[in-house]
Amino acid sequence: MEITSLADLLDVQDLDLQIDRLLEKRQSLPELAAYKDAHEREQTLKAEMDVASDELRTLELEFDKSEGELQILESKLNQHETRLFAGGMSGRETEHMRLEVQSLHGQREALEERVLSMLERLDPAREHKAELEARAAAVAGEKAALEKKIKAEWKQIDAELARKEERKKEALVPVPGDLVELYEALRRSKEGVAIGRFEHGVCGGCHMALSPAEQAETFADEIPRCVHCRRLLVA
Ligand SMILES: [Zn+2]
Repeated sequence: MEITSLADLLDVQDLDLQIDRLLEKRQSLPELAAYKDAHEREQTLKAEMDVASDELRTLELEFDKSEGELQILESKLNQHETRLFAGGMSGRETEHMRLEVQSLHGQREALEERVLSMLERLDPAREHKAELEARAAAVAGEKAALEKKIKAEWKQIDAELARKEERKKEALVPVPGDLVELYEALRRSKEGVAIGRFEHGVCGGCHMALSPAEQAETFADEIPRCVHCRRLLVA
């Protein structure tokens, strides 16, 4: 009775090892590492895009403000010049107005230079932002493709896992509950291998030899266990 159960457990062990390998494969797909890498790159790009957007917005606001100031200056200059050309002012007034116009010309020149230098910075800033957006879109595409691949592989692995679990359930049917408990406990403490085949005087679990006396003692037991590693043994 127990001998048959132990042989059944050997089948269970084989299935469990296959399940372990499938679970390991599920968690270590190369696409998962590639996805993580793409995700990190995307996060970095998003942070860079935030900075680029802020810089561009500041630059655009400054540009608009300076253009507004330039317009006001132009119209003031226009008024003053019209007044000068119209004449009819006293000598002192004319001199005052002339100096004022001269000063406004200077201010306009400085402001025009500022607007021009801003214009020169605007285009590269817009290009930089667009380039980051294009790179982020490419990474998003990469992520979507990887996600699709991972889902497909997981679907396949999960189907295989379900088949193995089903077979394990069937293999466990004839095994008594306390033996299953012992098996599961040994699986947890013995790196997943609870039971081994005893062949050519060697334990299939720890690969150590048992002396004839140890063999006799081991297999006199209803549930034979290796004297070295305490795993279950099937002769
Ligand atoms: Zn052993």
